Amino acid sequence: MPKYIFVTGGVVSSLGKGVACASIGKLLEARGLKVAIVKCDPYINVDPGTMNPYQHGEVYVTDDGAETDLDLGHYERFTSMRASRLNNITTGKIYYSIITKERKGEYLGATVQVIPHVTDEIKQNIKQVSKGRHLDIVIVEIGGTVGDIESLPFLEAIRQLRLEVGAHNAINVHLTLVPYIKAAGELKTKPTQHSVGKLREIGIQPDILLCRTERRFSQAIIRKIALFCNVEENAVIQAIDVDDIYEIPLVFKQQALDEIILHKLRIPAPSADLSDWEEKVVNKWKRAKRSVRIAVVGKYIELQDAYKSIYEALRHGAIANDSRVEIIKVDSEKLLEDTSILDSADGILVPGGFGQRGFEGKVVAIRYARERKVPFLGICLGMQAAVVEFARNVCGLTSANSTEFDPETEYPVISLLEEQKAIQQLGGTMRLGAYPCRIARGTLAYRLYGREEVSERHRHRYEFNNDYRNLLTSRGLVVSGVYPLKDLVEIVELEDHPYFIAVQFHPEFKSKPDKAHPLFKGLIRQALKASKR
Ligand code: GLN
Repeated sequence: MPKYIFVTGGVVSSLGKGVACASIGKLLEARGLKVAIVKCDPYINVDPGTMNPYQHGEVYVTDDGAETDLDLGHYERFTSMRASRLNNITTGKIYYSIITKERKGEYLGATVQVIPHVTDEIKQNIKQVSKGRHLDIVIVEIGGTVGDIESLPFLEAIRQLRLEVGAHNAINVHLTLVPYIKAAGELKTKPTQHSVGKLREIGIQPDILLCRTERRFSQAIIRKIALFCNVEENAVIQAIDVDDIYEIPLVFKQQALDEIILHKLRIPAPSADLSDWEEKVVNKWKRAKRSVRIAVVGKYIELQDAYKSIYEALRHGAIANDSRVEIIKVDSEKLLEDTSILDSADGILVPGGFGQRGFEGKVVAIRYARERKVPFLGICLGMQAAVVEFARNVCGLTSANSTEFDPETEYPVISLLEEQKAIQQLGGTMRLGAYPCRIARGTLAYRLYGREEVSERHRHRYEFNNDYRNLLTSRGLVVSGVYPLKDLVEIVELEDHPYFIAVQFHPEFKSKPDKAHPLFKGLIRQALKASKR
């Protein structure tokens, strides 16, 4: 049986609970332990797949095709864990399962209630993660902020679970904020006290507090927090703001967070060695002297979280090239009037997306990259837009389009497969998750991957229309990767261009800080060569 670390958040949202959980996971793995992390999301959607990026940010996709919370991206980037649909539990998923059981009569006439039925279902879902696997620790992140009505059943479930497994087999970690009030010139502990008070009202006493703070605080403040929150002084950890999230495991280690956790859970383990991470991830980034500018052309550019994994993957690519990357966020709609913002970019990336808005601007950006030989990486919709651009401007099919945007187009170079046409439900019905891709030798894709077969994650409905394959390839488009079973085009590139590659899948989901994805590494390498500065 694994031991549990339950992580809750208080005071405000956006304190970085996901990164904190991932960092704890990293730290414990560095001590030789097997760790998994689960995210509980209190919203009633079954998964975020049908949610708007404005509401939710990026939808992260796992190998097994689950559409999940972006925190799973942090978990996979920081640790060696491979996430699956079991790692994201939502209220929607819990209720869906309960209502299905109720309709089948599985509750044998009982009144179905939050306690015990909902809480039992949550506990069972948490336990499911370690079923049939040897895990030392399961970290359970509870989304939302303590005090939210929605998260109550999850908090009740973890309270019960700790009671079930015993105090030394589960601990509670609470992430909170210690704000600095400028006018008073002081750090304030009251919000933390209130937040812990709220938790204790429902029977949860935190064992460890991770205090987000702008400035380091004194022992006197630690003492005060410890006293009022009923937590040992050494378990009041200062989660001080850092520029680089990959530094956080080091910040935690300096304060012996791993020691404290393992002591409380009574797990003996060798000490943590993070020197590789420190050298290959943190210091490489810090010391890098060169820098490149990559334009990311999208429609959710003003949102921090909509392209999270892409921004991270670009950073990994930079780290791998001993450089930094500056991301120029370009609103694709604006490119229809003026492309001058692209003039300062050393490389252009067009990410995935849905819907008509912004599509034509992406086509403009791709034409710019193709004609001016600017290093280019297209992802998912970015690949589809590259095909449309090529069909229109190189092959003369001026009205070519994706049927997503013009169902009646004369030249549907991107279209739906027959199997997608019959689908009525939106949720979970795209082509999702890992598929193999066969790469042709002698292509840029082959040079980058160095392999003939790779596996990459998908999230899309539309596909390259093979009816146009001969025409497009006869004019210089290279199909360098296909999904062999159905002969679906997965990668396209251009012959007479230094770096023009576009993929139907999402390579950003498999990039890691210490192991950059080859397509991102290649983009940055080429951008450095092309750099105008
Ligand atoms: N909207 C496109 C499709 O459904 C692309 C999806 C994406 O970029 N993730 O095929």
